[in-house]
Amino acid sequence: MNPIGIFGGTFDPIHYGHLRTAFELLQALRLTEVRFMPAGNPPHREAPVASADVRLSMVKAATEGQRGFLVDDREIRREGPSYSVDTLATLRAEHPDRSLCLIVGMDAFLGLPKWYQWRELLQLAHVVVAHRPGWRAPGMGPLGELLVDRGTGRINDLHEARAGYIYIHAVTQLEISSTELRKLISAGRDPRFLMPDGVRKVILDSGCYTGDRSQA
Ligand code: ATP
Repeated sequence: MNPIGIFGGTFDPIHYGHLRTAFELLQALRLTEVRFMPAGNPPHREAPVASADVRLSMVKAATEGQRGFLVDDREIRREGPSYSVDTLATLRAEHPDRSLCLIVGMDAFLGLPKWYQWRELLQLAHVVVAHRPGWRAPGMGPLGELLVDRGTGRINDLHEARAGYIYIHAVTQLEISSTELRKLISAGRDPRFLMPDGVRKVILDSGCYTGDRSQA
């Protein structure tokens, strides 16, 4: 059985930078699926602007109809902070023999040492790092050392072991960011062609970034 990809994020909102990254990794790493996992209450960053329900609706709209894309709402359903290590432990319990690949952008990877029990993550899953415009791989410090220890360029390592490797993959660089999208939308501009139409519709209907309607 091929690895399961897990793509966590606030997805506030989800956009083509996220979707293209997930799609390229699904194909290049021969993943069975990519699970999009919207964060409920992220402990290491500011509270999301759109509600958890609206973010979940956007992720569902974005992934609908794409084979291999799944939505996993466990972090949203769980009370309290969503620690990745706890989420991965639940997935590991459900899939004791599968390879699990946690997908993160380079910016998120650089912040890894701030995550709760971050060293445990590699006992539960591999970490697949997607290059993101403007961010470079660490050469020094704890992450630089970790890359020397655990880094691999072999996709087969991700298939043969269940966890423990770090793999960096260059994906098509789409310089789209959720922060910039929220600014654009709240300034009254149109996000068309930066995200799927279904996501744009959820944003317009909910008014989640313009505050002109209460969030459903
Ligand atoms: P912001 O764009 O405001 O920085 P964000 O998109 O990083 O927010 P998340 O939704 O939490 O916020 O991102 C989820 C994951 O997707 C992160 O690991 C992030 O690095 C990655 N990611 C986000 N945008 C891109 C992009 N354009 N290309 C590649 N990876 C991305």
